Amino acid sequence: MISMAHRVRDFGTTIFFEMTELANRHQAVNLGQGFPDFPGPDFIKTAAVDAIQHDLNQYAPGTGQPRLRRAIAQKMEDFYGLSVDPDSELTVTTGATGAIFATILGLVDPGDEVILFEPYYDSYLPATLIAGGIPRFYTLHAPDWSIDEAELNALFSDKTKLILINTPHNPTGKVFSRAELDCIARLCQQHDVIAVTDEVYEHIVFDDVEHWCLATWPGMADRTVTMSSAGKTFGMTGWKVGWAIGRPELVQSIVRVHQFMVYCGATPLQEAVATALQTSPDYYAKLAAMYQSNRDFLGDVLADVGLNPLMPKGTYFMMADISHLDFPDDVAFCRYLTTEIGVTAIPPSAFYHNPADGANIARFAFCKTRAVLEEAARRLTKLK
Ligand code: PMP
Ligand code: GLN
Repeated sequence: MISMAHRVRDFGTTIFFEMTELANRHQAVNLGQGFPDFPGPDFIKTAAVDAIQHDLNQYAPGTGQPRLRRAIAQKMEDFYGLSVDPDSELTVTTGATGAIFATILGLVDPGDEVILFEPYYDSYLPATLIAGGIPRFYTLHAPDWSIDEAELNALFSDKTKLILINTPHNPTGKVFSRAELDCIARLCQQHDVIAVTDEVYEHIVFDDVEHWCLATWPGMADRTVTMSSAGKTFGMTGWKVGWAIGRPELVQSIVRVHQFMVYCGATPLQEAVATALQTSPDYYAKLAAMYQSNRDFLGDVLADVGLNPLMPKGTYFMMADISHLDFPDDVAFCRYLTTEIGVTAIPPSAFYHNPADGANIARFAFCKTRAVLEEAARRLTKLK
């Protein structure tokens, strides 16, 4: 009798795949899954083609192409003043998703507790459960998604192994403040806990807000794994070139898993990302400005049709409050929006362990061309 392993039986299909399929079936404008619908920069594509033409097509080292590792270390120095040894303190992974999985499997033993902020990025929970970890949830509440130190402290125990932080945060658009990171750093040191920070949206922040890297906090470099990915920064989500940074022992734990999951990522794409990371600082400012303009546009559209936008400080996602509308929950609303209005959003209940906590909100992505956002705006006027 062929049957699925118990460890995966409850997982279902990811909400991103499910909503994109529904959008395609109904020719809806897809503001659900977060992927840019515009081409990535030519100089990066050319670098990938060049690498292929120059026959950089065999296995990369398991920890990544040396040129990419050096470029990532240089970037951490340039942006955050963080000194990273490219040979022992970082590893390239198959997207940030590969980093998340390998980090959790490499560090969490069965029975260890893992603190997750919810709404959480969808792969954190399955990764924790597959490792045999016990999730402890800190629920962020709209509209400001703020953190209370005493409440967070109460989640730590002598079994806590790690806390996972995502800043800028998908799906709320929250950017953790210095004070919040002070608090997390204090608690990690007090309880001897590892911090894993998912910073894939590090360059997509708005207004006067700054992204802070927790590994630069006093005492935190020894106990932090910092993860990021080229997917968001360079608009190539299909390339799946990510990385994890930390002290050698932490990185070794990650590499031991990643080497047997996939061995290595795609060599020519790693070469191209190395080139991408050497781009001028100007690129990052333009990226944030472009997304900020899209954010403002979508915010006006949602407000105009009576969906109350919760303006994000970072990422390319926007939550909207739908509590005043007559729908049983976010899933019903997002299905209606797709099938009847022709615009797709993600139901955030998929990012909470208690789905009721996400029942009054919907997530819209604005990593889309202006023409597509305008088409969504036209369709959304039917909600008025
Ligand atoms: N973390 C967060 C918060 C994300 O939004 C994403 C994008 N889907 C990832 C990780 C995964 O990144 P990648 O596509 O590089 O695996
Ligand atoms: N990060 C993207 C989002 O949040 C999608 C990632 C995925 O499809 N796995 O929408």
